[in-house]
Amino acid sequence: MRGFRRDNVKVYINGTLHEKDDAKISVYDHGLLYGDGVFEGIRCYNGKVFKLKEHIDRLFESARSIALEIPLPKEQLAQAIVDLLKTNGLKDGYIRPVVTRGMGNLGLDARKCSNPQVIIITDTIALYPAEFYDRGLDICTVATIRNHPDAVNPRVKSLNYLNNIMARMEATLANCQEALMLNHKGEIAECSGDNIFLVKRGLLRTPPLDAGILEGITRNTVIELAKGAKMEVQEIPLTRHDVYTADECFLTGTAAEIVPVVKCDGRMIGSGKPGAVTGKLRERFMALVRQ
Ligand code: PMP
Repeated sequence: MRGFRRDNVKVYINGTLHEKDDAKISVYDHGLLYGDGVFEGIRCYNGKVFKLKEHIDRLFESARSIALEIPLPKEQLAQAIVDLLKTNGLKDGYIRPVVTRGMGNLGLDARKCSNPQVIIITDTIALYPAEFYDRGLDICTVATIRNHPDAVNPRVKSLNYLNNIMARMEATLANCQEALMLNHKGEIAECSGDNIFLVKRGLLRTPPLDAGILEGITRNTVIELAKGAKMEVQEIPLTRHDVYTADECFLTGTAAEIVPVVKCDGRMIGSGKPGAVTGKLRERFMALVRQ
């Protein structure tokens, strides 16, 4: 584990560093009682945090959307992340900032929670074993739909991931690695923890934000990379038919990076092997993050 001291790992809570085993918050915290809070998943490569500003901006937007005030400025939170990585001697790893509504009573009234908790955890991560990047994933559509945009909008990265966890369970029961979630209109939304892309006759296609998805930072990076390579990118509503008849399919996410998909609902996608466009984009993406 490169540059990572397993013992003596520190966790940040409200400006103080705690030993991992002593990093605790109240059982009355509404983050625990109701999933009332927001979070981010960030990676660092070679000692540099990838897209830190974008992740901090998204965290603050998620918080704003649920009327949660993060009790420190963006710059201070960003610095706390960088400092914690240094303290934990982590060069290639994963960072999890969490902001909860804080301690309240057992009722739902958020006004009773006066003390939001700011937590930063750092760790190492490998989402899928290496073989899946070579061989591709087998995914399936699931009955659990993505949150309706008029409930908690999927653009909010809230602590309430139960819907996505249920979707992932359905996929696991069907012996698939990921769950493809549809939206309330039956269109393709995204996977339980990743955005989805299709390649069709050289075009890159992905559902638009108003399909009810998280605006993935990896998604945005891939769109930029593709446009930079003069590839046409369409953010358009997609159906399962589009997935089954695509030449290539891949998922994007901070943890997964870019991972090919070769099967969906028992249908082979394209040749059934990770595609050339996916491979090129993955190469470009990995070069960018390691820059
Ligand atoms: N969709 C969902 C539901 C997610 O939880 C995530 C993050 N794991 C993503 C997409 C990908 O977002 P990002 O590229 O910003 O990590």
